[in-house]
Amino acid sequence: MVFILKPNAAKEKIDKFIADWEQKGFSTIYSVGTEHTAVCLIGNTAEIDLDHVVNTTDIVDYGKRITEQYKAVNRTVHEDNTIINVGCASIGGGFFTVMAGPCSVESREQITEIAHSVKKSGAKILRGGAFKPRTSPYAFQGKQAEGLDMLRIAKQETELPLVSEIMNQTQIELFEDIDIVQIGARNMQNFDLLKEVGKLKKPVLLKRGLANTIEELLMSAEYIVSSGNDQVILCERGIRTFETMTRNTLDLAAVALLKQKSHLPVIVDPSHASGIRSLVPPLAKAAMAVGADGLIIEAHNNPAKALCDGAQSLDLEQFHSLMEELRKRAVIESKIF
Ligand code: PEP
Ligand code: MN
Repeated sequence: MVFILKPNAAKEKIDKFIADWEQKGFSTIYSVGTEHTAVCLIGNTAEIDLDHVVNTTDIVDYGKRITEQYKAVNRTVHEDNTIINVGCASIGGGFFTVMAGPCSVESREQITEIAHSVKKSGAKILRGGAFKPRTSPYAFQGKQAEGLDMLRIAKQETELPLVSEIMNQTQIELFEDIDIVQIGARNMQNFDLLKEVGKLKKPVLLKRGLANTIEELLMSAEYIVSSGNDQVILCERGIRTFETMTRNTLDLAAVALLKQKSHLPVIVDPSHASGIRSLVPPLAKAAMAVGADGLIIEAHNNPAKALCDGAQSLDLEQFHSLMEELRKRAVIESKIF
């Protein structure tokens, strides 16, 4: 249930209103937006007589029931777009932000060469997996802690903020210098991990699970935000369907719907969504057209030799050309690129 407050509501009265509900056992979310200020109640609100509250509380303009299970990430509760700032980059609002880099960090030379190149092309954040969730236990599992060290060096050289995937909560300390903690598709419903990253004071990139609904993605984001961390970036990275000619099926409707239902920024991963290098540019452009706040793209200095996901990785020139095209389109979409 959300109460929209009158524009002139005094802060002391708002504080008392919130305290009264909390005393009755409800949790509250207080949200100050550009259009209005709202107080959302979380708990069993079925018994509350909405009209009675509106008629007997002079600071309340109107109230409405929120039927969705997600509250903190719900746009009804928080009308303005959340904008997440990382170093010099911003994600959400009017920005279109591209994160790029290899699927996996392979060597210091590899990651620094890629970092310099994607930065020149306009990427604002460097991606690179150090801990890799692989289907086969015999496949390359990532450079692990050493990979994080290599990322750190690339950051020192380029000043690009870093995004890298965490696999479980025991790794949290290792991620101190990683600017955005990525929760991969396979961990989207690892609720213990979601609660732990919810205690961090840094952004979390939450990827949609391979076979998870839009609502489940929002509920996973709700875990993080309700644990205290409101810096969540949602990522549509394709879902499993009956189609076999692409690695996954990019759900563009999800992007548009997520933007309507939630105030959180939404980015698209056209690399994992397609699994095919030649599809990455058209899907990236489609993502921008449908209203995404940015992209996460796999780019490699030698895709043919990549230890992971080479077939879907752009080489550095291809990445550069794509960025040129996106830059032109960003003008039409009124996005800050
Ligand atoms: C990745 O970003 O390299 C990755 C493993 O992505 P996902 O979790 O979406 O499969
Ligand atoms: Mn990958």
